[in-house]
Amino acid sequence: MPIYEYEPLNPKKSCPECINRFEIIQGIDEEPLSRCPKCGQKVRKIISWCRAAVIETSDEHLRVEKKITEYEQQGMWSHAAELADKHSEKVKDKGIKTRALDNYKKAGYDADSLEKHSKTNDI
Ligand SMILES: [Zn+2]
Repeated sequence: MPIYEYEPLNPKKSCPECINRFEIIQGIDEEPLSRCPKCGQKVRKIISWCRAAVIETSDEHLRVEKKITEYEQQGMWSHAAELADKHSEKVKDKGIKTRALDNYKKAGYDADSLEKHSKTNDI
């Protein structure tokens, strides 16, 4: 879903919600807002392009990937694997999944036990 950014036409009459620019996630087919959902003052869309909501995920993605790398550098394979595994479910990223499996192996799990594996195994 794209995120749209709006600003009030008349900031003097705006409520705290729209006095500063506000962002709202809307479907591509939805009509753009013409009024603030809170106070009903007229607002306008400031950007004609839309920023995909996925960007939030991608920020998080970078953060998680960094954390995984940290775990790997410290040789905390099971931690890295857990994190990568969970994250791969969320972002549907095959690369991360492979990385998770890789780290599971390094952590000493064999492929068969991976299925049963659920808890973090502290090193
Ligand atoms: Zn408002």
